[in-house]
Amino acid sequence: MGMPRTFHEAREVLANGGTSVTAMVRAALDLAKEKAHLNIFLELFDRSALAKAAEVDAKVAAGNAGPLAGAIVSIKDNLCYAGHRVSAASRMLDGYVSPYSATVVERLLAADTVIIGRTNCDEFAMGSSNESSAYGPVANPWDPARVPGGSSGGAAASVAAGLCHIALASDTGGSIRQPASFCGVTGFKPTYGRVSRYGLIAFASSFDQIGPLAHDVRDVESVFRVIAGPDVRDNTTSHREAAPTGLPDRLRIGYYAHCLDHAGMDPEIRAHVESQLQRLQDEGHAVEAVDLPMADLFVPAYYILSTAEASSNLARFDGIRYGHRAGGAHGVEEVYRRSRSEGFGPEVQRRIMLGTFVLSAGYHDAYYGQGMRVRRMIRDKTLETLAGHDLILTPTSPVTAFPKGHISDPVSMYLQDIFTVQANLAGIPAISVPTGRHGNGMPFGIQLMAKPFEDERLLAAAGRLFDV
Ligand code: GLN
Repeated sequence: MGMPRTFHEAREVLANGGTSVTAMVRAALDLAKEKAHLNIFLELFDRSALAKAAEVDAKVAAGNAGPLAGAIVSIKDNLCYAGHRVSAASRMLDGYVSPYSATVVERLLAADTVIIGRTNCDEFAMGSSNESSAYGPVANPWDPARVPGGSSGGAAASVAAGLCHIALASDTGGSIRQPASFCGVTGFKPTYGRVSRYGLIAFASSFDQIGPLAHDVRDVESVFRVIAGPDVRDNTTSHREAAPTGLPDRLRIGYYAHCLDHAGMDPEIRAHVESQLQRLQDEGHAVEAVDLPMADLFVPAYYILSTAEASSNLARFDGIRYGHRAGGAHGVEEVYRRSRSEGFGPEVQRRIMLGTFVLSAGYHDAYYGQGMRVRRMIRDKTLETLAGHDLILTPTSPVTAFPKGHISDPVSMYLQDIFTVQANLAGIPAISVPTGRHGNGMPFGIQLMAKPFEDERLLAAAGRLFDV
């Protein structure tokens, strides 16, 4: 038999003796090989996956299996797993084997999931279409001519194509939510500090968060419960108690009228969001238009600050301490220059140059300093809006998955992130739930955001309002 679609279904079948973890893992690996043309996995971990499956089956038989026994998981290629390769989809880290595991990977394994492989993504998680991967683009399982979104395109596609129950990925400016929307799955970015970033290859450290993608909110919740919580190895993780999950019958839901009028907004997505808002109002929720005065600054602030952080984080890949080293280079400068030119693709080089520029002596205050001030204002305004509302609702993306090669101008690609970067700038939790189907056949999602540390409450609300 194949693999049940969701983890909670798999858990039931497993409990009834209807399958084994080994059988599910074999089915998942076979299917992944059959779908190799989608370019979702950069590598399948057959050996360690089957060994772990046997171990979990023994635990199931002995009655002492962990809370996620039966969950088949993929990890984005920027999460470290001891003894396994990890490359951030870059030539820079081609062949690199991680000597240690990310905290999230350790926690998943301790909870008895099986990790079947590492998923393709944009190089160093920079992109919105998965086209910047050094190992080729991922095909959207709904239509292989289209992109799966990015940067976690392989992650979203691995769930959508039924190759695993859960994908673990990272979200710096929308990388979990936008691909979730493009592939018709659920994707959750937790509050900054709820999940340890230890063992995540850093892109922009003050924005990066790790989170799960799955078919439904229930599976997302099960994983979040296991991976969340303080970690001594990441001192930005918080010890703060999670907010209580109790929800009032009548939720206060804010939406940005301004955002629905956005120039690039697909009319069908707009109509769908409006009809969902109407439905929520009819069901007795308080649905209110709220102002969003600084929306035009979201994308610029995000790209100034995230590239600045990236230029610093990626400085370590110099061909000497870390990363690809160019052959036959002479002298330290040539080693740096050639190693970095060969190792990094064009998008990563562009970001490093942008980030280095905004941090440079004469421009620091005009760009980086100003970006930080704008970020603080965006956070303050966002929290102000959330003080009067349980949730903010937006489309996840103004468009559905576009054809490969369709967006070649970097700035147009950056503008794709218009609705998702606010949550990262403000550090708040946000989820994309698959609610719509476009006339072009592609799925799309709605995004819900909530106050910091209301992750569990947000998940409960998403499950209740959208029945996913
Ligand atoms: N698309 C955004 C970017 O390219 C977000 C990427 C991400 O969240 N990792 O920066």
